[in-house]
Formats: sequence, structure tokens, C-alpha cells
Amino acid sequence: MLEALPVQPYDVHNQFLVSNARPPDWANPEPAGRYNLVVLGAGTAGLVSAAGAAGLGARVALVERAFMGGDCLNVGCVPSKALIRASRAAAEVRDAQDFGVEAPAGARVNFPAVMERMRRLRAALSSNDSAARFRGLGVDVFFGEARFTGPDAVEVGGRVLRFRRAVIATGARAARPDIPGLADAGFLTNETVFSLTELPPRLAVIGAGSIGCELAQAFARFGARVSLLGNRPQIMPREDPDAARIVEKEMRRDGVNLILGCNVVRVAQEGAVKVLHLECGGQPTEVRADAILIGVGRAPNVQGLDLEAAGVAYDEKEGIKVNDRLQTTNPRIYAAGDICSRFKFTHAADAMARVVIQNALFFGRAKASALVIPWCTYTDPEVAHVGLYEAEAKARGIDVRTFTEPMAHVDRAVLDGDTDGFVKVHVRAGSDRILGATVVARHAGEMISELTLALVGGLGLGTLARTIHPYPTQAEAIKRVADAYNRTRLTPFVKGLFQKWLAWMR
Ligand SMILES: Cc1cc2nc3c(=O)[nH]c(=O)nc-3n(C[C@H](O)[C@H](O)[C@H](O)COP(=O)(O)OP(=O)(O)OC[C@H]3O[C@@H](n4cnc5c(N)ncnc54)[C@H](O)[C@@H]3O)c2cc1C
Repeated sequence: MLEALPVQPYDVHNQFLVSNARPPDWANPEPAGRYNLVVLGAGTAGLVSAAGAAGLGARVALVERAFMGGDCLNVGCVPSKALIRASRAAAEVRDAQDFGVEAPAGARVNFPAVMERMRRLRAALSSNDSAARFRGLGVDVFFGEARFTGPDAVEVGGRVLRFRRAVIATGARAARPDIPGLADAGFLTNETVFSLTELPPRLAVIGAGSIGCELAQAFARFGARVSLLGNRPQIMPREDPDAARIVEKEMRRDGVNLILGCNVVRVAQEGAVKVLHLECGGQPTEVRADAILIGVGRAPNVQGLDLEAAGVAYDEKEGIKVNDRLQTTNPRIYAAGDICSRFKFTHAADAMARVVIQNALFFGRAKASALVIPWCTYTDPEVAHVGLYEAEAKARGIDVRTFTEPMAHVDRAVLDGDTDGFVKVHVRAGSDRILGATVVARHAGEMISELTLALVGGLGLGTLARTIHPYPTQAEAIKRVADAYNRTRLTPFVKGLFQKWLAWMR
């Protein structure tokens, strides 16, 4: 029997999740002689590595200390996107009158039902990542804490797994900010927030990055009074400032109290209330809340792995050190996913795992730096990005030209009532070569793939201008950007010639 880990509430959905992700009656197999590949961690990077290698006929062991599926399935993308969908439904009911729909007065969110829906859907998706499915793929699945005992051996629950190659895919967890009084007052992280069954009336979210923004907006739409606290002057500090401004406006409309450019200096507990003492430009102020959620970045899971025993270099903040082929300082051992990358996304973990399989099993020369990784923050509207930002390109001395199309100029966005947003594409000046793009739109995450394809395939704006987009779609914004580029090719000389030609035709 496996040691049970707390999963709250332990209802029928979470029981099903556990039966897939950490079956209580699981018995670890007897280790095979020497594995072609030992994978540490069964999140996205680990699962893709293990399934890919097993599919090629390799002898593979996969070690997981908690739940198959890692953060994405259990406490990350999956539950957060289920909540976001429910919060959009709430916003649509709120805004129904704008569409001429009379929603009954007093419509409210049934938070326990929202959370139950999330648990049901998460449980349904967990079958893909289940221990039984991986055993069926021919992978030896071990539950327990993995720890290196030498350069070619890992120990789990008293058993030693010897390997030719290994992949460290142990991911990351919520970084704990060092704020006096915070630990005593208690706080939620992504590991606990999805276990809530009651909506906190007042929620303070510390950290205005993507996780903080997504959950702050969702909880505000559920009816909580949310304060979002960021230490920079804009939310999502990495993103295009114009994009952040649009999301800030929408969040304010949702009732989020945005407190930016402030530091939380201390937290005190007064009865049941948590009081956050802030410093904003030298001025003290405070926020009172019933619950605190932190989202101030991710810390790599390097502890307890005994990396020294394997000769794997690491940094407590940056994670495992890898070269461009994702090889650690021990040439037999690779790393993939959040443990070694600044791109902490599921699709990035997946892509890196594929690089590792090629390099570890086939003496391949695949490079992580060759990956084009888009990302999206699933606020409403969404903010998606790929490639370089304008400031980054300029800092590299690249002469940039930017084309922007506001969603307000796109018929479908007008009809949908989704006019807050834009498509912005940066090209190398004098060419149509795309350097980067940001999309702010209701479904920006869907739209960014077209621009990512263009970047990967070396297709310029000229090709996108020739690509017919169905009318009316919001993706037409991309075509309009490309048309705007095409118009710049009409130099005064060419325009003059053309006008002469037209005059001759009359
Ligand atoms: C709230 C939230 C929302 C997110 N939303 C998105 C999104 O919408 N889109 C997106 O692309 N990304 C999203 N992410 C990020 C995404 O979840 C991660 O990038 C992804 O899970 C990384 O996969 P991984 O395999 O590297 O690590 P993980 O998923 O963290 O998996 C690592 C696994 O290793 C195990 N492990 C750790 N140490 C050991 C050990 N010593 N022995 C054995 N096992 C060990 C862990 O238990 C874990 O299961 C979100 C993250 C959060 C927190």
C-alpha cells in the first residue's frame, strides 16, 4: 500500500483522481537490471520522456513522489483553466444585458459547484496520465522520493535503479516570499487553492504575474473582494505594457483592487482577519483579507535529490544547470521542464522532453535554443506572446518595425463585444521577417499559433497577407496586420507608376 497524501475534499472525483494518479494499492515493481532511461518526476516533462522512450522500445523507469501528472494536471493548468471557464460564464451573465439578454436579477456563482465541476473534469483528464496507463506502455512506475546514490544510480524506497541515461524532471513549486508574519498567518498556494470548497469573502493575492492575475480575476468574478498586490508598476511585468494596461482595465471592471508598485512588508493576524502591511512609494498602507494566495514565482525542486552524488550542478533559484542539449554536468543525465528552464509552461516541458529523448537515446544534436516557445496568460482578455518583444529586439540592436491592429477594427470582435485588444507584430525593418508578436484578445491563446507557425516556418507577413482567413473571425486581425505591412511596400515610386497605369487604362 502507498502512503496516502492529503487530497481535499476526498469526494468521488478526487478518489477517482487518486486512483489514477497515485493508486493506494500500487506495488512498486522489482527493478530491471539496468534501465536505458530513468525518469525522475511524472509531470509533463517526465511523462513525455517516459512515454517517448518506452514507445521506442527502451527499458524505462519513472519515479514519482506524489501524483502522476505533476503540477499541470493536479494543481496547475487543468484546475485553473476549469475555474477560469466558470469565471467567464459568470462574467457573461453579468454582461448579458449588453447583448439584450435579461438575466434574472441576483444571479450568483455557486462556488462549491464551480469547484466540484473542476474536480470532476480534472479527474476525467487524469486517465491520460495514470500509473496504470504508463505501466501498460511498458514503463516501470515507482512511487517514492527519488535520490541519486551515484553517477548512474537512483534510489527509491530502498530499491536501486541503475541507468545508462536519466532525466531529471522534478519541476518547481510556489516560491515562498520571505515576509515577516506570513507563515504564521497562513497562506494558500497553487497546491492548496484548488482544494477550497468555500469562497473566501476577501482574498489578497501576492504577486501579479500570470498565475496571480488569472486567479485574482477568476475569484473576483466568483464574488470575492480581491486585492492583487504587485511590486512592479504593471501587472504581468514581462509583457508588453499596452497588453498589461488592457487587462488591468478589465480587472478593475471585475472589481479587482489593483495595488501595484507596493511591497508587502509584514502580515499580522487579528482574530480571523489577515492584515497585510504594505509600503507603496514610501507610504504605508494596509489590506485586510480572509485568505492570502501567493504567486510570486516558482522555486525548482532540487532538494533531496542528492545531486552532488551524481555530479549534477544546480542552483537553488535557477534549478539544474544544463547545456543547449539539455545535458547536465553529468553527461549521462539530462533535465527537462520547470526544473531547468525559465519557460515554465507545460508545452515547453513537453518540447524539452522531446529534445532529451533525441539527445539521450540517439546521440542527437537537438538544441533547446532552437525551440520557438509561445505562451499565454488566460486572463480575460488573454495575452499571448511569441518571439521577441520590441524592447528586447532594440536591446539586441535590431532595427524593428511594428504593425498593430486593434481588435476594435475587426468585425467579429465588434460583433462579439471583444474590442479590447490588439495584434502586434514586430518585423525586422525593411523585411517582412517576423521577430515577435503579442496578441491580446478573448482567445489570444488560439490565435498565437498562426504567428508561431509563421516564425517556425520562416513565413513572413507577405505570406500571411496571401492567406485567406474566414470572415468574420477574430484571427482576421492577423491578416489585417499583414495587409498593413503590404501597404508599406507601395513606395511613392511604385504608387506613381501604378497611377500612371490606371490613367492609361481609362
Ligand atoms: C496555477 C498554475 C497554472 C498554470 N497554468 C499553465 C497553463 O495554463 N499553461 C501552461 O503551459 N503552463 C501552466 N502552468 C505551468 C505548468 O504547470 C508547468 O510548467 C508544468 O507542470 C511543468 O512540468 P514539469 O514536468 O517540468 O514539472 P511538474 O509538473 O512540476 O512535475 C514534476 C514532478 O516531479 C515530482 N518530483 C519532484 N521531486 C521529486 C523527487 N525527488 N522524486 C520523485 N518525484 C519528484 C513532483 O511531485 C511532480 O509530480 C501553470 C502552473 C501553475 C502553478
